[in-house]
Amino acid sequence: MGAQKRGDYPKNLGDFYRRFPDDAACFRYLVETRWPDGFRCPACGSGDARLMDQRRTWQCRACRKQTSATAGTVLHRSKLPLSAWFTAAYLMTSLKPGISALQLQGQLGLTRFETAWLLLHKLRRAMVNPDRSRLSGTVEVDETWIGGKQAGLKGGRQRKGRKAIEVVVAVERREKSLGRLRLEIIRDDGSETLYDFIKRSVEPGSLIVSDAWQGYSGIEPEVYGHQSVSQAAQKRAGGSPSAVPGVDQVTSNLKTWLRGTHHGVGADHLDAYLDEFVFRFNRRHYPMAGFATLLGLGAAQAPTTGDGILSPLTPERAVRRRGRATGLTSVRFPNPPLPAPSGPALDAAPGPATLA
Ligand SMILES: [Zn+2]
Repeated sequence: MGAQKRGDYPKNLGDFYRRFPDDAACFRYLVETRWPDGFRCPACGSGDARLMDQRRTWQCRACRKQTSATAGTVLHRSKLPLSAWFTAAYLMTSLKPGISALQLQGQLGLTRFETAWLLLHKLRRAMVNPDRSRLSGTVEVDETWIGGKQAGLKGGRQRKGRKAIEVVVAVERREKSLGRLRLEIIRDDGSETLYDFIKRSVEPGSLIVSDAWQGYSGIEPEVYGHQSVSQAAQKRAGGSPSAVPGVDQVTSNLKTWLRGTHHGVGADHLDAYLDEFVFRFNRRHYPMAGFATLLGLGAAQAPTTGDGILSPLTPERAVRRRGRATGLTSVRFPNPPLPAPSGPALDAAPGPATLA
């Protein structure tokens, strides 16, 4: 099916609404994506089935088994219209800086902030792919602090009393561009922690490029190549000011995004935002695949219910949860025309065939 094809991807919101004007169009896409050769009953293999329950369930005419069309997707058992989910997933995949819950609330005309927040977080859960393959080739690795400047710190290695959170960054260095990315929160930057991250994130046989920090001394030479670049020496020699220019670029974009779109992120949720950043970065050349994956249509993905999701800790934290209600009922759709998104990365060069 065309889920991977770049040409399929709506170029802007107007294009998106022409492609998905209503729930029926969303449903058609859902069925085509899940059953590219047409629906087949999983029990008896018959292709003769009818739709019931407001087109959410197939019933096989041969053996009468019922199969939910949305089971296993993020849409399952949701009271929100399919079109609301599709719009949220589209905005989340196509807007370069992503979208905040407050913006989405406005875009969808939701009465409650929590509804928008929960919707985004459910989609965000689909951004963690446990079976993702490890990075390979030449991989830059470095650590960075997320959480802004703090007075009275003595250098970048001080941990005691520090409020910021340390994150390790690994990115594939290609000839003229960057490949795939991994981000992870770390509790320290000692050699055990860093090497553990590297082993889980990078294919053996790859070349690790790092600065001269001793935390990278644990890399086993029989498993990885390791190029340790002293930034000071490099500067003295008049070379590139950074040992890891790719990581620097990613880190700078990440911090701008966290500050700009989300106005800072609480420590409790940083994990989820890092996952979102990685997801978007690694699919920047394949937005349609990202869109389908978000909805649970692209890859096998356990859907999440509202139960496992924490309440908002964003600047809008004044919003208090009313009981256990998730509020996923109050949505008006479709809405008046929305401002056109700044545009998906359609101008970018085709990337690697592997998706994270
Ligand atoms: Zn059947």
